[in-house]
Amino acid sequence: MIEWTISTELFSLILLFLLLLNFHERRWQAFPQRRLYRLSLYLSAGSVVLNIACTHMLSQPEQVPLWVHQACNSAYFLLIAAVCSIIAYYMCRLIYEHSSRNEGTRRYLVFLSVLYALFSMLVLYNLQSGVMFYFDAELNYRRGPLVNVGYLVMLLQLVVLVALALINRRSLSPAMRRVMRILPPIVLALAAYQFLYPDVLLNGGIMAAANLILLINFQRRGIEQDILTCSGNRASLHQELALRMRSGRPFQIIAVSLSHFRAINQRYGARRGDALLCGISSWLEQAHPKGKSFRTGSLDFALMAPYEGQPGADRLMKAVCARFESPWEIDHVDILPSAAFAEVIHTERGGSAEMILELLSFSLSLARSRSDHMMRYDPALSGRMAEQTRLIHTMQDAARENRFEAWYQPIYHTASGRFSMAEALVRMRDTRGQYLSPSAFIALAEANGLVEEITDAMLESVCALLADPAADSLEAVSVNLSVQQLLSNRLVEKLDSLLARYRFDPARLRLEVTERVLSENVPRMRAVMEDITRRGFSFALDDFGTGQSNLSLILATSFSCIKLDGSLLRDYPENERSVFVVHTMLDMFRSLECQLVVEGVETQAQADALIARGVEWIQGFYYARPMPRGELLRILRSPGAPSSGA
Ligand code: C2E
Ligand code: MG
Ligand code: MG
Repeated sequence: MIEWTISTELFSLILLFLLLLNFHERRWQAFPQRRLYRLSLYLSAGSVVLNIACTHMLSQPEQVPLWVHQACNSAYFLLIAAVCSIIAYYMCRLIYEHSSRNEGTRRYLVFLSVLYALFSMLVLYNLQSGVMFYFDAELNYRRGPLVNVGYLVMLLQLVVLVALALINRRSLSPAMRRVMRILPPIVLALAAYQFLYPDVLLNGGIMAAANLILLINFQRRGIEQDILTCSGNRASLHQELALRMRSGRPFQIIAVSLSHFRAINQRYGARRGDALLCGISSWLEQAHPKGKSFRTGSLDFALMAPYEGQPGADRLMKAVCARFESPWEIDHVDILPSAAFAEVIHTERGGSAEMILELLSFSLSLARSRSDHMMRYDPALSGRMAEQTRLIHTMQDAARENRFEAWYQPIYHTASGRFSMAEALVRMRDTRGQYLSPSAFIALAEANGLVEEITDAMLESVCALLADPAADSLEAVSVNLSVQQLLSNRLVEKLDSLLARYRFDPARLRLEVTERVLSENVPRMRAVMEDITRRGFSFALDDFGTGQSNLSLILATSFSCIKLDGSLLRDYPENERSVFVVHTMLDMFRSLECQLVVEGVETQAQADALIARGVEWIQGFYYARPMPRGELLRILRSPGAPSSGA
């Protein structure tokens, strides 16, 4: 009779139990790879329990009928072969994860199934032949000549796996390379030990070791995994891109960027907000049978799928966009998040993961500014992106070399007939020395964190001007602010230090903000504005009439000046409707205690009509265009009123 030691199996069971505890999270269920791993853990634990039960029954054989011995031992053989097959299949999927020859996974599954079917037949045949094991007259367990066929099956699975890993070595992830270096030798060593010392039960140990190595691989992958949704993060998308590009397999990548999520969190609670993000991630994971989802930023997702022709790509993009047109049901509540979509299709060899990611975020930035919030892939986009990159470099150089110039557009005071105010407007030359319009680079500077440098340069120049006695006749000079500045305390510190350095009347420095700026983070922005107003500086509301004017907010904010946008004057004073709109606005603001400047006045007819309506301040090409500081000071010195446009 064979004396077995089950202590190793008990130890393996504890280990498997701990692994299971670590792995039963619901949010992982969306990912087939993880479901497979969990199944292998459950079956491994089941086979160890069965092994311990069989061993226990064999220690008192006569108390259990023969058929129970046979059934349990056969089931154990079948179960352990099933676990090995599942682990092998799981590893095969990891091998083919980034490869172009995806059909390899299916072929290996067929190979495993055939092997398992043959092994099962052998186990059944064993019931009558006893070629693997049998029970003697005293019901003692006896080994048959083919008892080690199970190890042969495992060896075959392993050999083919190693061959597949070698064939696909170019597209193997670093984690999988590590697994392939560690796992086969350990499993082989344990199997050899078991073969040599059959009395020590080691099968559970082999499986626990395999599962543990795979889990460690997972944990290392945790660094590449998004904590909330369990999908890949930006780092893993980068890795996936690099591997796919190396294997030369065409792919489509769709980026989804959510917006206004703060409102969703406030309205439905952060827990539902999180659940929504998880829901989006798992929907994307299942949107394409061969697709993979990533959470690349807190509100940004990406779906990567093989590119198999334009119709398929169109269908996928349409399906993703369509999904965001209907609400997501989260805890019995319907939530409709707003999102922007961008797409990149990579069909040729070459390029880099960084380039694709840059192109994706560039397309997203374009998508956000479009009315349909969607940007399909266009090969010409790379050219536009290169142009933007050049512009960013020009701005970075200008910031480093202090080359942002302040130009000034004087503002005409109709009652005195003199220029009594001015607005500072940034100017920058491109690499060929040509001046670029701020409209071409301010938005880019805002998106790339360069606008602070521009504001700093403008503030510095304007404060120096205000401290110059030659500019004493200017009541106020304004500087344009972007939203970033009103959300940080840095501006207040900057203004304090400028005031201490240049010593001018703070009321003469006016900060212009647009309605768009006002709509961002109202409480924070108002706090910063109040802080600045308390120090004596003043604010102007720029481009009034272009946005969705929130009048109550405007009235509640202390502006000393409101600037009507030039676009309102397009058909003024020829068109009656335009006259009606402009005059209604003028009348509305007249009762407020603030200055009213009309921008964009280009013709005498406009100027005359506005002056006749009692407008006091006019800014426009009709009176003066933006000009360098020297020219401004020259105009201020010259006696008499400016009569017409320069
Ligand atoms: P804005 O603040 O509304 O500035 C007025 C713009 O209207 C200036 O364009 C000015 O040249 C133009 N303008 C003035 N009178 C007329 C007119 O009669 N007809 C026409 N067609 N245009 C007129 P500019 O200098 O190209 O600036 C465009 C925008 O860029 C500015 O609009 C402002 O939003 C932004 N910007 C300019 N400088 C800065 C800056 O230093 N910082 C920030 N954040 N934005 C700036
Ligand atoms: Mg302005
Ligand atoms: Mg304006």
